[in-house]
Amino acid sequence: MSLQAATKYCKKCDTEKNPSDFYNNASNKDGRSRYCADCTRLRVKQSQAKRREELGDERYLATRRGDVARFRQTEAGKRQVKLDRMIRTEANRRLRELHRDDYEHLLKIARREAQAELNEVSA
Ligand SMILES: [Zn+2]
Repeated sequence: MSLQAATKYCKKCDTEKNPSDFYNNASNKDGRSRYCADCTRLRVKQSQAKRREELGDERYLATRRGDVARFRQTEAGKRQVKLDRMIRTEANRRLRELHRDDYEHLLKIARREAQAELNEVSA
């Protein structure tokens, strides 16, 4: 006899769902979160929005950046940064190759704008 129930009830959205629609949570008897994954995601979004409102955009984003900065100091973070850079570099290379004429055109425009800005500063 399996202890796994066929469905699990989420009292937040008042719905019977498949147990796999709930996040794992080892501290609960059935090993699943009290609320379904949809409700959990919604709750996280709402609490983030509330926190953002309380802190103000600038401070909220600063704390988020702090998290990212700390993560990047870890070995996993360093690997991730390196991987992201390789992926972006390769994607950019392919994009340039695919749209060589557009790229050359945009380079010309950017060069002209940068030159104009430089002239403005030194004028
Ligand atoms: Zn729910």
